[in-house]
Amino acid sequence: MSENPITTPYRGRFAPSPTGPLHFGSLIAAVASYLEAQQQQGAWLVRMEDVDELRNVSGAADDILFTLDAYGFEWDGEVMYQTRRKQAYAEAMDKLVDQHLVYRCTCSRRELRENAIMGDYGLIYPGFCEHKDHPAHKEHALRLRTSQQPHEFNDQIMGLFGQNLKQDIGDFIIRRRDGLFAYQLAVVVDDAFQNISHIVRGFDLLDSTPRQIYLQQCLAYPAIEYAHLPIAINAKGDKLSKQTGARGIGKKPDVAMLVDSLKFLGQQPPDNLARASLPTVWQWALENWKLDAVPRQPKILHRD
Ligand code: GLU
Ligand code: ZN
Repeated sequence: MSENPITTPYRGRFAPSPTGPLHFGSLIAAVASYLEAQQQQGAWLVRMEDVDELRNVSGAADDILFTLDAYGFEWDGEVMYQTRRKQAYAEAMDKLVDQHLVYRCTCSRRELRENAIMGDYGLIYPGFCEHKDHPAHKEHALRLRTSQQPHEFNDQIMGLFGQNLKQDIGDFIIRRRDGLFAYQLAVVVDDAFQNISHIVRGFDLLDSTPRQIYLQQCLAYPAIEYAHLPIAINAKGDKLSKQTGARGIGKKPDVAMLVDSLKFLGQQPPDNLARASLPTVWQWALENWKLDAVPRQPKILHRD
């Protein structure tokens, strides 16, 4: 008999894009997803989201893994790389095509900038190509037909959030014009493949979540719980990221920075913890972590 063994109920993950070294913003997502998974006695996986090959920086993936390891994060199983998952994405795409949910789009960025309405989450795709039936030889992106139905979910930190995908986003790209699969498709296929039950990540991805839930439903994947964390911004109001020039967190573990990330996440470490050893910090964090204490605030200023 080969029934499934008891599966871990909680499976979380950290999914960095290898576009540069880890910085304070990504440390926050790593710390929170890790502590929550540990506290739930679950698994914690690391996935390299290198699906957007044009943005990958050579050496960054190894650099991130080295840093995570140096800080004392322990992940379960092998690190998954999206660049090795194209077959799985193509199969998921076929399932969507079979359901007549996909169509070819030849609109250029410029055409959309000039003709589409700017919504709360970016340009809303107006469905220009929906009935055009462009031939396959014309260079095209593939879009997923959305619905008018509201897609709502209850975020563990931010509370109820929903979108009407057709009105708020429009039919969205699942394979780009350059042939690369879109993040939205890849992340959903991978989370399902890795049996992820809980996603803890930055607030900047909150507005992608209804698209991802919709894709899960189209592909008949199980539902996932979400917790979106406040993101760290600089004085100009930009998200701390590689693009805005946030400092890398360095390859040697910086205990004070780790303690700072706990404070940022609303935890209340004692003052002397910033001078303690790395294992002491983790021990305190594991014993005292409270997801409930994370501020329900989209953005928090952080001196970088
Ligand atoms: N790879 C994404 C990023 O680094 C995170 C995606 C996710 O957590 O779903 O922003
Ligand atoms: Zn189009």
